[in-house]
Amino acid sequence: KVKELSGNDYQFYTSAMDKRTMDNVKLETSLYRALDLNEFLVVYQPQFDYKHKKIIGVEALLRWNHSSKGMIPPGQFIPLAEETGLIVQIGEWVLKQSCKQLKEWQDKGFKHFTISVNVSAQQFNKKDFVTMVKNILAETQLDPSYLELELTENLIIQNTEETLSKMSELKKLGIKISIDDFGTGYSSLGYLRNFPINTLKIDRSFINDVCHDSKNAAITNTIITLAHNLNLHVIAEGVETKDQIDFLSSSNCHLVQGFYFSPPIKADDFFEKYLN
Ligand code: C2E
Ligand code: MG
Ligand code: MG
Ligand code: MG
Repeated sequence: KVKELSGNDYQFYTSAMDKRTMDNVKLETSLYRALDLNEFLVVYQPQFDYKHKKIIGVEALLRWNHSSKGMIPPGQFIPLAEETGLIVQIGEWVLKQSCKQLKEWQDKGFKHFTISVNVSAQQFNKKDFVTMVKNILAETQLDPSYLELELTENLIIQNTEETLSKMSELKKLGIKISIDDFGTGYSSLGYLRNFPINTLKIDRSFINDVCHDSKNAAITNTIITLAHNLNLHVIAEGVETKDQIDFLSSSNCHLVQGFYFSPPIKADDFFEKYLN
């Protein structure tokens, strides 16, 4: 027999739920103000070609420095930003900030690496997405060939016609496109034939125990071979150990990003550490 809730349990349950809802409402209210209050910042994680021992890119990752809660990771507020539609404005801010930052580094003489910016489906699906990107490039004076947009497979299966035409426009501008978290989405491989993609980013979940789980090793090797055969770049995300690097190296994947090399860091620290 299923245990029935006593009156007290019920009371407890609803007030716990209310609290959760209230917390979310509060978070949502402060998310609305976060842009105006300047609470967002972008941190940068280097992407390395460890065979040639050089930085080939940097991924821009958003952080929210909340006035009372401190640093809130994107996993906690990006879903809320997507639900509320705020991701469109926030994403535009991240893109502008990132382009401005790379241009600043380039003006100091460092023109050998790209900047990768995450784009959420809702943002990409806006009618004026390409225009928005163009405007930011014009405003920041960044050469489009140094910008890479990270899209996900799930984005690609929505409005495929429109997505393809937007991606083609972006490619014409010289912008590069990578598929983030590759291998975890719902899409078929067929899109790799038709869409102008430059890079596959192997999801962290495959790299995580690539040395101890033969299935993850098989999937990782397959993605690397797939990329090579299609003439795409391939980069491994979430590389944390030397063993993982050795594995990737013997599988001919030389582009890596992960804590083994560096976590995402602030712009000044990035400059000090890698460009100075
Ligand atoms: P992502 O685009 O796949 O970014 C990589 C995530 O993996 C980052 O988490 C990064 O800090 C983390 N990471 C990097 N190397 C390692 C490693 O060696 N080990 C482990 N355990 N983690 C590593 P972060 O910064 O918390 O971002 C999480 C996700 O939030 C991102 O995943 C991306 O999907 C989203 N996100 C971040 N910034 C933005 C943004 O500006 N716009 C949008 N739309 N999404 C963003
Ligand atoms: Mg990413
Ligand atoms: Mg992502
Ligand atoms: Mg990823």
